[in-house]
Amino acid sequence: MSKDYKDTLLMMKTEFSMRANLANKEPEVQKYWEEIDLYNEVLKKNKDHIPFILHDGPPYANGDIHTGHALNKILKDFVLRYRTMSGYYVPYIPGWDTHGLPIEAALTKKSKINRKTMPVSEFRKLCEQYALEQIDKQREQFKRLGILGEWDNPYVTLDKKYEAEQLRVFATMVEKGLIFKGLKPVFWSPSSESALAEAEIEYHDKVSPSIYLAFKVVDGKNVLSKDCEVVIWTTTPWTIPANLAVAVHPDYEYVVLNTNDRYLLVAKDLVEKFVEATEITDYKIVKKVKGRDLEYTTYSHPLNNKVCPIVLADYVTLDTGTGLVHTAPGHGEDDFNTGRKYNLDVLTVVDARGIMTEDALEFANVFYEDANKLIVERLNEVGSLLKLDYIKHSYPHDWRTQKPIIFRATAQWFASIDDLKADMLEAIKTVDWIPTWGETRIANMVKDRKEWCISRQRVWGVPIPVFYNEDETEILDKDIILHVADVFEKHGSDAWWTMDAKDLLPEGYTNPGSPNGVFTKETDIMDVWFDSGSSHHAAVVTRGLNYPVDLYLEGSDQYRGWFNSSLSTGVAVTKKAPYKAVLTHGFVLDGEGRKMSKSLGNAVDPNSLIREHGADVLRLWVASVEFTSDVRISKDIIKQTSESYRKIRNTFRFLLGNLFDYNNETDRVEYSNMNEIDQVIIASLNSVIEKVLHAYENYEFDEVLRLIMTYMTNDLSSFYLDFTKDILYIEESNNHERRSIQTVFYDNLYALVRLLTPIIPHTCEEVYQHLNGKKERSVYLTTLPRAVKTANSNALLTKYENFKELRDDILKALEEARNNKIIGKSLVSKVVIKPTEKTAKLINSITDDLAKIFIVSEFVVTNENIQGNEYPSGIIQVSLRDGHTCSRCWKVVDQLSEDELCDRCDKIINK
Ligand SMILES: [Zn+2]
Repeated sequence: MSKDYKDTLLMMKTEFSMRANLANKEPEVQKYWEEIDLYNEVLKKNKDHIPFILHDGPPYANGDIHTGHALNKILKDFVLRYRTMSGYYVPYIPGWDTHGLPIEAALTKKSKINRKTMPVSEFRKLCEQYALEQIDKQREQFKRLGILGEWDNPYVTLDKKYEAEQLRVFATMVEKGLIFKGLKPVFWSPSSESALAEAEIEYHDKVSPSIYLAFKVVDGKNVLSKDCEVVIWTTTPWTIPANLAVAVHPDYEYVVLNTNDRYLLVAKDLVEKFVEATEITDYKIVKKVKGRDLEYTTYSHPLNNKVCPIVLADYVTLDTGTGLVHTAPGHGEDDFNTGRKYNLDVLTVVDARGIMTEDALEFANVFYEDANKLIVERLNEVGSLLKLDYIKHSYPHDWRTQKPIIFRATAQWFASIDDLKADMLEAIKTVDWIPTWGETRIANMVKDRKEWCISRQRVWGVPIPVFYNEDETEILDKDIILHVADVFEKHGSDAWWTMDAKDLLPEGYTNPGSPNGVFTKETDIMDVWFDSGSSHHAAVVTRGLNYPVDLYLEGSDQYRGWFNSSLSTGVAVTKKAPYKAVLTHGFVLDGEGRKMSKSLGNAVDPNSLIREHGADVLRLWVASVEFTSDVRISKDIIKQTSESYRKIRNTFRFLLGNLFDYNNETDRVEYSNMNEIDQVIIASLNSVIEKVLHAYENYEFDEVLRLIMTYMTNDLSSFYLDFTKDILYIEESNNHERRSIQTVFYDNLYALVRLLTPIIPHTCEEVYQHLNGKKERSVYLTTLPRAVKTANSNALLTKYENFKELRDDILKALEEARNNKIIGKSLVSKVVIKPTEKTAKLINSITDDLAKIFIVSEFVVTNENIQGNEYPSGIIQVSLRDGHTCSRCWKVVDQLSEDELCDRCDKIINK
């Protein structure tokens, strides 16, 4: 039996555990960060450096965070930490959006509260309480992700100071004449009883009636005969009572069809489609007429016999219908504009709840969707209906209630986008849009906008600070708004409901419109997009941060949302965009690329994921995806991520474990005194550092991770860490070669732990705390490594690439010998190679002991012909090395000492 020398080996030793146990460990790391006030310490350290401001888009304070939130906040944390560790001064003020309908709705649903039976201020108090509870909950969840920021001093849109600043933004826009009141058809949600912004609309399929109607001509102006009828098509029969005109395109050709004794006017190019849809089989074209010649001919409304005109409009198309467009100025935007041109009334036939009004005559008091049927029946009775069918089409819905919306003219407050458009389009050009298609996307959205409806008929929000005189004229005055802002700063916007108009106005205010000094307050509140859209002022400028900020980073739905509203108010106030760069990410889908939904039951909950795997695994997943497109998450995907995590953790552990007796101050080996292979690894590391920093700079976190993982796996784990074991464990502690390897380990560990800190900060902190000779209280107080190039690094890397080919061949040969039962462990083997000319040159140039590097007992290079397999590098022969196995290092040598040791081990043991 051989002797046991196990105790004489310098095996790896570390307290850093193999098992991650992140669910328990991370909260402790986070507690430590709080104890040392890490966030502020880092700020203090970089206080006088160049600032980098990432302005947080405020999530809505309602419900638990979902994977989309996690993706967003983690990406932000990558950026913040990268910038901080690059030396920038990087404060991060998280925000919350707290006003608006969802909170009113949640409260009504959850607490069964009826807001109509209690004073507004009481209801608002409940909304505030609810919002603050939601913030507390989300704050804990965000913090659990490992995100550092001013969590104790966030910006919250319901804060008095914030509300006051929002009014100051509004005052500037009033001063510039950008705010106006108008009667306009707006997206109206009967289910929410409120106007909606474009951002609050979603398109879903809906089945609607599709009807063709014929209206009898009254005055054909010698163009149309009296027995002629104009034919229109619509999918909203309930708007027919509001019909005030029919629009035709001036340049299209129209024809009169004679069928069954009726004379029907339709566009020439739509005749085929029309007769097919209405199942008319027998017809004759009896007349042709140009659209422009039809202007001001009249027809009789089939329900109320009103005489209405035919008008001209350029937006009439030949895609669907008849080329004659039913026009109801109170219920459509184009209709409204045409109505304005032809001096038509703005007739609205439904109220806020979607109930038909008295103006709808016999259909009054019926819900508009129910009125469809009654109206179609009546149209049939009076002979107007040519055809009724049903179609499925994409139709706008309220994104919250998921119910269809309508167009409805109401008195609303608007911010003019038309007046800002040129400046906005200029400002867009100055911004760095990442990905680049973002620029086109936002520019097109701005081009399409005319005005921004900023009023909402709700109570949970910032009031529109307008007063009315006794004669009902409005008081829209910058100085008065600024005065109200001061009141809000002291008392909050509740003052609007708790104080009298008189007390909200400046003392002694008079107005000729109010001879008795009586004033009333506007009851509408502002669109919540105006709240968050003012954050560049209310949460950036007023906190002493620079305008514009360096970066906005949100989901790609914010081109129409926050990027847009912020741009509008930003340009209105300063003429400049509020951001220098805008970075977007996609949506989170399930493993099969489907949207996550309650009905599919495929939603992944980040909180339970963290409880199982830890935040660092979730963060690693974020780093692994190409986030500018939609990304996928599932249990299987997270399992793969955990596997990558384990690789990283084990590599860290191995490096740490072999540095237990190394002191970087005293044991360090200078680069010039290292073996060549050690220099190669240092050169590779520096090349990786350079590439990683470049990827970070371009927000390519998936590339950061890929580079680090490839390096850790290929260069370290399966190569360098593998063969160096023999030296680290066997040689004496102070052995030069061993110290050189430890120096390489130390440099790798110290560089990689810093490079990965932005991505997996908890694990990196844990590693750093186990590192001998660490200098700072946290790894986050260090800076990122910089790539150092030595004079010989390029030459070394080229040589290394060639060497890898040789190594691959040797490994293949060893594997084959193992399969043929010639050898067991590679250490017992002797490898002989008859190299090709190129490989011979390479081998000659290598100064290291190749037997060691290939982990074999003997490596021989020969010119002789040998028995062996042919590989690209040459002929390789593997055999069992003859001799005796050293009881300590297991190497096979010719002769052993009395103690069963090889020469090398004997010198170490018996010195
Ligand atoms: Zn030995």
